[in-house]
Amino acid sequence: MKCILVVLSIQDGKIKRSSLEALTRAATIGEATSSPVHAVIMHSSAASFAAEAGSYGADTVFCLSDRIFDAHVNTPVLAGLTTVINQVDPKLIVAASTESIKDIAGALAIRIDAATLPDVASFDMVDGTVTCERPVMAAKMMAKTTSAHSRVLVTLRSGSYEAKASSGAGKMVEVPFEWDTNLLSATLKEIISTTGNTVDLSEAKVVVAAGRGVKDASGKALVDELASITGAAIGASRAVVETGLFPATAQIGQTGKVVSPDLYFAIGISGAIQHVAGMSNSRVIVAINKDADAPIFDVATYGLVGDCFKILPLLNDALRKALA
Ligand SMILES: Cc1cc2nc3c(=O)[nH]c(=O)nc-3n(C[C@H](O)[C@H](O)[C@H](O)COP(=O)(O)OP(=O)(O)OC[C@H]3O[C@@H](n4cnc5c(N)ncnc54)[C@H](O)[C@@H]3O)c2cc1C
Repeated sequence: MKCILVVLSIQDGKIKRSSLEALTRAATIGEATSSPVHAVIMHSSAASFAAEAGSYGADTVFCLSDRIFDAHVNTPVLAGLTTVINQVDPKLIVAASTESIKDIAGALAIRIDAATLPDVASFDMVDGTVTCERPVMAAKMMAKTTSAHSRVLVTLRSGSYEAKASSGAGKMVEVPFEWDTNLLSATLKEIISTTGNTVDLSEAKVVVAAGRGVKDASGKALVDELASITGAAIGASRAVVETGLFPATAQIGQTGKVVSPDLYFAIGISGAIQHVAGMSNSRVIVAINKDADAPIFDVATYGLVGDCFKILPLLNDALRKALA
């Protein structure tokens, strides 16, 4: 039986949560189909992440150690992945749908002759056929897609599955990799963090998102306070990005980021389909809106109908005490 290979992304010195979700799902499919599940890590200290990958279900962890991988340049990543894929000959390649993976998925698929199912919300493999569901038309509909190609590349939306560690311990294999920097026609000079010291939206477990109902700097201060108390990343609807109250990098939705935290606060957000497309995968959604008929309440787990300027100070105080 051909194997499944999971590409693990490293960020801020750890394996991304979305990668561990992809690995957990691959391990479940591997068990059901008796397919070995392997992982590949490309990083200056790739081997240091191997044990964790093993504990999430990787039978073998292929480690490519080179500082070039920390520079987030596509060419070496493509070369590294192609090397490992040619070596292990997987039927299914799975990666979290990160910006870096989206950047290379097309080129990789061409190199390794794979059918590509990008940005899926669920996937399975039965009798060698890969099936998936992916949100289309601003997540209004789900498209079911099937590929019986000999090799399939799937990229998985964050939050689609829960990452679960097991008692497994994978075997580590160091893959020799040397990169001649003279081969690069483009280099990355610097990554400028737009979020400063705040939590990364796409990996955050708690997100506090603000909409037009937050109105101004005093509303934003209440949102910032809630985020600080709960250790949340701050998101926003397009309406408040357009007014300049929040940066464009905070925008969540069809033309912004897709998030899937355990807890999502929607403050003064109406719940337009284009916004919901980016947050409907959140596990628990708490909406505060003064309009009881706002569509956000259709997707909310808990709804608070009222003025966020009155509710937030009370909520912040209560949470501060509860979490102290
Ligand atoms: C092609 C396209 C792509 C788009 N992409 C995105 C996207 O990626 N992300 C996105 O967010 N939008 C996107 N939009 C815009 C989207 O359609 C909505 O216009 C936008 O999401 C509305 O933002 P909002 O909910 O903050 O504002 P509004 O729709 O104006 O809603 C404000 C809400 O706040 C409530 N409110 C007002 N005052 C208070 C108060 N004091 N207390 C509590 N509640 C209050 C109101 O009842 C209302 O429900 C896109 C639109 C298009 C056409």
